[in-house]
Amino acid sequence: MTKYVYLFSEGNASMRNLLGGKGANLAEMTSLNLPVPRGFTITTEACTRYYNDGRQIAKEIEDQIMEALAKTEKIVGKKFGDPENPFLVSVRSGARASMPGMMDTILNLGLNDTVVQGLAKLTNNERFAYDSYRRFIQMFSDVVMEVEKSKFEKILDEVKEKKGAKFDTDLTAEDLKEVVEKYKELYRKEKGTEFPQDPKVQLMEAVKAVFRSWENPRAVVYRRLNDIPSDWGTAVNVQEMVYGNMGNDSGTGVAFTRNPATGEKKLYGEFLINAQGEDVVAGIRTPESIEKLKEINPEIYNQFTVIAETLEKHYKDMQDMEFTIERGKLFMLQTRNGKRTAAAALKIAVDLVSEGMITKEEALLKIDPKQLDSLLHPNFEPKALKAAVPIAKGLPASPGAATGKIYFTAEDAVNAVKNGESKVILVRLETSPEDIEGMHVAQGILTGRGGMTSHAAVVARGMGTCCVAGCGEISINEEEKYFIDKNGKKYNEGDWISLDGSTGNVYGEKLPTIEPEMTGYFATIMQWADEVRTLKVRANADTPKDAAQALKFGAEGIGLCRTEHMFFDADRIPAMREMIVARTEEQRRKALEKLLPMQRSDFEGLFEAMQGYPVTIRFLDPPLHEFLPQEDEDIATLAKEMGMTFEELKHVVTSLHEFNPMMGHRGCRLAVTYPEIAEMQTRAVIEAAINVNAKGIKVVPEIMIPLVGDVKELKYVKDVVVKTADEIIKKAGVNLEYKVGTMIEIPRAALTADEIAKEAEFFSFGTNDLTQMTFGFSRDDAGKFLEEYYNKKIYEFDPFAKLDQTGVGKLVDMAAKLGRQTRPDIKLGICGEHGGDPSSIAFCHKVGLNYVSCSPFRVPIARLAAAQAAIDNSGNLGQK
Ligand code: PEP
Ligand code: MG
Repeated sequence: MTKYVYLFSEGNASMRNLLGGKGANLAEMTSLNLPVPRGFTITTEACTRYYNDGRQIAKEIEDQIMEALAKTEKIVGKKFGDPENPFLVSVRSGARASMPGMMDTILNLGLNDTVVQGLAKLTNNERFAYDSYRRFIQMFSDVVMEVEKSKFEKILDEVKEKKGAKFDTDLTAEDLKEVVEKYKELYRKEKGTEFPQDPKVQLMEAVKAVFRSWENPRAVVYRRLNDIPSDWGTAVNVQEMVYGNMGNDSGTGVAFTRNPATGEKKLYGEFLINAQGEDVVAGIRTPESIEKLKEINPEIYNQFTVIAETLEKHYKDMQDMEFTIERGKLFMLQTRNGKRTAAAALKIAVDLVSEGMITKEEALLKIDPKQLDSLLHPNFEPKALKAAVPIAKGLPASPGAATGKIYFTAEDAVNAVKNGESKVILVRLETSPEDIEGMHVAQGILTGRGGMTSHAAVVARGMGTCCVAGCGEISINEEEKYFIDKNGKKYNEGDWISLDGSTGNVYGEKLPTIEPEMTGYFATIMQWADEVRTLKVRANADTPKDAAQALKFGAEGIGLCRTEHMFFDADRIPAMREMIVARTEEQRRKALEKLLPMQRSDFEGLFEAMQGYPVTIRFLDPPLHEFLPQEDEDIATLAKEMGMTFEELKHVVTSLHEFNPMMGHRGCRLAVTYPEIAEMQTRAVIEAAINVNAKGIKVVPEIMIPLVGDVKELKYVKDVVVKTADEIIKKAGVNLEYKVGTMIEIPRAALTADEIAKEAEFFSFGTNDLTQMTFGFSRDDAGKFLEEYYNKKIYEFDPFAKLDQTGVGKLVDMAAKLGRQTRPDIKLGICGEHGGDPSSIAFCHKVGLNYVSCSPFRVPIARLAAAQAAIDNSGNLGQK
């Protein structure tokens, strides 16, 4: 029989997949004899089974839950529903990977009309008992029964107003009894039944609600953004309640063993006196620093610091802990490896190695490569920053420099981006999990309320997005979409502001930014990564500027120069158009003559910038529609330049129309029909290489033929290339080595890679087209329906961003093997978007590619991801 329920005393940290992160750590802390309130965990397998069984909890699982409940009751000496000695629990979700704020929690479960009286007597605190009960009714109704929270809040506000109470704490026990009655009445009205009085029914309903919440829309979006598979499921933790709201000798807080923003080695945290668990995280009241606890209760503070140190040593990582003090007694409610900014992640990883706690390899594995992205983007230009006067200051919740136009709802921010706005800042009173997509598209987040551990702060740090939280100096009006700064100036939707996430300063203007530097801890980590990785990292770059940036970020070559991109500039596009619309070879050669010097000097620039590193130049591959003039005005101008009439040219343009340009006259098909194009490009590459070689920089150019599906196509174009190149080299009287290879981006090429390798000295997997052609949907249009595919769980991720290892990956693997079979020393790389995606990079490592190529800004990410893939594969982990 499968075991679906584990007491905390039965589990440990290694059972994360089964017990979820929270459950496994609660079990581990229990085994370390730390003060953890007792309880049990219902496994992630129970969640999966719940879905497989048609959203039902099997009898077998229910029996195991009841058995664990009975055992826990015995251990704590309390009983469900017993007014003399009631057992009250919290019910929380806990997935394998932490999903902050994503899943729902229910507190005070077990209360009912009689138990509340018992609790009042037992605690000698009627107010506390009824306050707990009204909170429970609200949470249970909202989370489990889907009665809107706002309806309860309205009742509470009405009672407060009637009693002249400003804060909730001003309400008396009698007032709260009235609130409870009204809440129950609301429940009856909404659900048509009485509020459930049987704690066992409450428990089973709550467990189901947690399972259900795994599929709520915000959890689904979070999983997609964070590569969490939907079949993992969530565990449920049922734990004895402890109360931080029992008076001034009670409290609750969150603390990190190191500063999560900077990585500084110092206990860092916040707590609230006389408050219940969620109050700190929800950011409703602004909490006190943990330092203050030292003054208020030095004994508890000392006990806590010892526990914090123990946990950090035990887990060998920075810990994020939740605790509660109930009437002077400390309880640990949770510990986990803390989320941190990219800067903090680097410092902590390097520090843990110098403290002798972990190896370099372990340190590398602790850093999420995607997180580095936030360090690779600009900071404010120091002079401009110094001159600027802040309009307000909030908490520096997540570092970085953000400049953008302000929007006051997540939806408005998302729409602004959809409508082409590239820089938006989300301004909210406080954020909630519903805001996740808006937070994701924003350059920065500004909140009016909440502390360093509020939802906005935690999520922004995880995303590497700049965030200033708890900025009480501005007053925000979300409904009317404006805020007012401390001087009374009004900022409306669409106005520019800038945020400094490292200081908490807010500026009422657009500040200039500068490029980042890779120094200090960043450089150390990159050096360690380079020591262990076997995959080379190149960049996709089309200009000397991009190439220089790539080199600065550690690229070891250019894996893809898209030559058609060199003609997008306004002053170059006419020559390119002239070439495309040419009707005779003569016209075409004339246009190509104009393109030759531009192309040659571009290549010289690239070769020089790359200082002898390999450069792969891909021959023309434009889907023609990207270049054709569409507007009559442009056609008229071009016609004039080409000495044609408007009608003549319009006719040519119409005749070039393709029904499916992505599968049309592009790639090597262009060179097959017009070999003079390949001749010109070969001339430009070879002459540039000869010129740069003459300057003492050794260049071995790699010429890459795109969109090949048949070896005969490749051979045809290659023959043109070799003939042209060899003639030029011979004429120049020099020695120049060059290589000719191809892209594998059509399934037929992958299937016949053994044939193709006879002609190709290298393969570069063009996984953008390979994905498009394998799935059979357009890379330009898939966005229109993929969203529905995610909603319907047909796909969990965008196959154009993360390699589909099952299908497209199979083709890559097969082509790599077939290619090597024919030509054992064939060089294999990838240059589609996937070359910068960590999980796809791990796949490339596994199938034995030689390099990945990605955009310059992703080069450091790829270096780290490649190192992680090497460490994971080589089994070096854990060896000191
Ligand atoms: C590809 O198809 O993966 C590729 C890199 O080429 P492009 O994106 O230019 O079609
Ligand atoms: Mg392509």
